[in-house]
Amino acid sequence: MPSLNEIRSTFLDYFKAGQHQILPSAPLVPQNDPTLLFVNAGMVPFKNYFTGAETAPAPRVATAQKCVRAGGKHNDLDNVGYTARHHTFFEMLGNFSFGDYFKEGAIEAAWKLINGEFGLSKDKLLVTVYHTDNEAADLWKKIAGFTDDRIIRIATSDNFWSMGDTGPCGPCSEIFIDQGPSLAGGPPGSPDEDGDRFLEFWNLVFMQFERFADGTERPLPKPQIDTGMGLERITAILQGVHSNYDTDLFRTLIAASVDATGVKAEGKAQPSHRVIADHLRSTSFLIADGVSPSNEGRGYVLRRIMRRAMRHAHLLGAEEPLMHRLAPVLVAEMGDAYPELRRAEPVIVETLRQEEERFRRTLGRGMTLLDEATAGLSEGGVLSGETAFKLYDTYGFPLDLTQDAVRAKGITVDLDGFDTAMARQKEQAREAWTGSGQSAAAGEWFAIRERLGATDFNGYETVEATGQL
Ligand code: ATP
Ligand code: MG
Ligand code: MG
Ligand code: MG
Repeated sequence: MPSLNEIRSTFLDYFKAGQHQILPSAPLVPQNDPTLLFVNAGMVPFKNYFTGAETAPAPRVATAQKCVRAGGKHNDLDNVGYTARHHTFFEMLGNFSFGDYFKEGAIEAAWKLINGEFGLSKDKLLVTVYHTDNEAADLWKKIAGFTDDRIIRIATSDNFWSMGDTGPCGPCSEIFIDQGPSLAGGPPGSPDEDGDRFLEFWNLVFMQFERFADGTERPLPKPQIDTGMGLERITAILQGVHSNYDTDLFRTLIAASVDATGVKAEGKAQPSHRVIADHLRSTSFLIADGVSPSNEGRGYVLRRIMRRAMRHAHLLGAEEPLMHRLAPVLVAEMGDAYPELRRAEPVIVETLRQEEERFRRTLGRGMTLLDEATAGLSEGGVLSGETAFKLYDTYGFPLDLTQDAVRAKGITVDLDGFDTAMARQKEQAREAWTGSGQSAAAGEWFAIRERLGATDFNGYETVEATGQL
């Protein structure tokens, strides 16, 4: 059975043999796009090649790109621990054509890889195409021999990709595997498609139009290809398991978490181990790419992910900081493919340890407060915004952590109440200092207060606002 590391190599070797230049993954912090929180797809580092602003180093390129989807337009943070297929950090395998081959070449290359190299058979696969894209449907018939019932036409934006309001855009075609009727879920495009039965694993984007400000679209003189296949998903498929968390890499990480806590990955503990394994990867890779926990922007996203993992460690009964002890296991697994991870190991370990020590000073008491506040609530209940704000302000619980903590009980948080409590607190802080006669010192204190307390929340908002593609 091929390992995750082997599958990554197979993909890159395959496209290298097909005359693609293999480029290393770009860092998670976008180098060319200040409006984007983190690189969240393989094409992000290549935006300027697609728009024509810069020339690509080769007409054909392939990569395994580190991606984080934990904020902004693509936010899978709330899926982790709940679905079998989403991570906050994952690797997107992609082949790209900058005006070289187009639809036929892309479908042919994808088909030869999944059918020829990977041995996936046609009768387990389905593809979607954009509803007007007859060309793609015909190519799937011609190249792979798919019959009409396996080619699903979808009219929504799920199958039409665009970079923004203007610029390159075009239809896409996604490849799904049917994992069998024992798993719930309808086919792609159906109302209950979000089950586990039909798993999307590869998206082929055919950039063939340019969209202008007036909404018109014109064919690009040289259409282009952008594809993305989730490494963890194709690994699950090739290893014959129905969850990314049952693949070799995740088993190793979860085993380390089981070892360190002495709690088996069963029942209620299973999601916690999965969240810890997932968040260990995103936090370690973010730290390796220079992000450090802070109260705003990217650093606050990192802190939110770290603290969510730390709450799960607490749920498992870990009495001492846990995350930093798992980092060396991750480095051993992924350090060959990503040397920056190995280089940063001491920083990763130290950052995780310090953050967990700090959060542990308030985590236990915060959890007690939360348990008391929810004890009287039943499913469908609402936690008061006051309590959520107190947890945030006094105990360092990011709002999304509190939401995540009560979600399992079917409880939601009163967000308006949270905002009101936040606004009131800001106002009180301001009033307390105006006219006190200590303007300089007061101003300074207020600046610190803003930065450490109230700005926490602004950071959160900024993150959401600036995370848009
Ligand atoms: P989904 O519908 O399952 O959320 P998506 O349509 O958002 O996936 P794309 O944006 O098309 O995903 O990304 C291309 C590929 O990257 C997907 O087909 C999948 O294999 C992988 N992928 C996307 N999001 C994640 C994630 N959060 N964790 C792991 N793999 C992912
Ligand atoms: Mg998605
Ligand atoms: Mg999808
Ligand atoms: Mg998709």
